[in-house]
Amino acid sequence: MSAISEPNTAPHNRAVRHPGHGESFTEHMISLEWTEGDGWSEGRMTPLENLSVHPGMIGLHYGQVAYEGLKAHRRVDGSMGVWRPYDHAARFQRSCRRLAMPELPVETFVAAIDQLINADESSLSDDPAHSIYVRPIMFGTDTSLMLRPSRTYRFLVMAFVAGGFFGDGVESVSVFASHEYSRAFPGGTGDVKVAANYAPSFLAQRQAEAAGCQQVLWLDAAERRYLEEMGGMNLFLVRGQGAQAQVITPKLTGTLLPGVTRSTVLTLAERLGYDAVEERIALDQWRAECAAGLMSEAFACGTAAVVTPISTVVDRSSTWTIGEGKPGPVTMALRTALTDLHHGLAPDPEGWLHSPTGPGHATH
Ligand SMILES: *Cc1c(COP(=O)(O)O)cnc(C)c1O
Repeated sequence: MSAISEPNTAPHNRAVRHPGHGESFTEHMISLEWTEGDGWSEGRMTPLENLSVHPGMIGLHYGQVAYEGLKAHRRVDGSMGVWRPYDHAARFQRSCRRLAMPELPVETFVAAIDQLINADESSLSDDPAHSIYVRPIMFGTDTSLMLRPSRTYRFLVMAFVAGGFFGDGVESVSVFASHEYSRAFPGGTGDVKVAANYAPSFLAQRQAEAAGCQQVLWLDAAERRYLEEMGGMNLFLVRGQGAQAQVITPKLTGTLLPGVTRSTVLTLAERLGYDAVEERIALDQWRAECAAGLMSEAFACGTAAVVTPISTVVDRSSTWTIGEGKPGPVTMALRTALTDLHHGLAPDPEGWLHSPTGPGHATH
């Protein structure tokens, strides 16, 4: 690390060299508005700028806010690829529906991202560990403190240059099982990406950090027994070894966020010849299988985390190490398969990597 750090704001047309995660915003944003009579407006691309909102804006008070997070990568040939934007668009529609918000057409969502990536790709260096993280967001904009859904909305797309979420290398993380707080419950909003899910996790995150861990491991709210996820990334366990390994992730029970990365990893696991399984697993069972040597790898995955090995679990009365506490071979094989696809280095039969340079724009 150099002693002199770069300023946060990228000079025009110069790639960000030390992006960190979440603060090196690119230069532009896309903006659309929705009203009951007229539906969605045409989009506008402007320089990234502050919003001027009324202090009584509904979204601010009642949390009518949904968002997405997806990445664009630079392929080895220098062109840009957006990762599975249609799947993120579909999830965004589900999130908006859950908050009684209007749905944005999938094509509009994808076109807005394409336009922003085309405008701002020069902020991204050719360092393969870096990417552009795109953040679409929708919120209710009515000036009203009546407890009801807004009748007007704004959709924005902004982006920042992302380094590795846990640093640029492949470091293992430790997780802290929360027995005090819950992230999600049946009938709640745990299976959609809405702003209201995240602030309530911050206190548990502080407890995790106080226990020396990077992430909270969320358990089911009813019994605090079954593994769910990490509150920003999904969880995978590996049972057995080598070609016979089973790659296991908690079943979607309505209280987990169905990660696009989770679904990708399930497909890639099958493609690599592993047995991919969705299973309900108790924390005690995980501990027992680790102790018996049956499970020797675990990892977290998500757009931000990519595939990040888990080395240690801290529970109320016990702490255990997964395998040798180092990134395992199945984890690393899946990680490489995923990042090769991101960079256009592997066949992509599903067409997951989308080229933003095609025709069609959200804005004029
Ligand atoms: C975004 C998110 C994930 C990961 O989903 P991806 O689509 O893979 O990025 C997992 N859990 C939660 C709670 C999330 O918000």
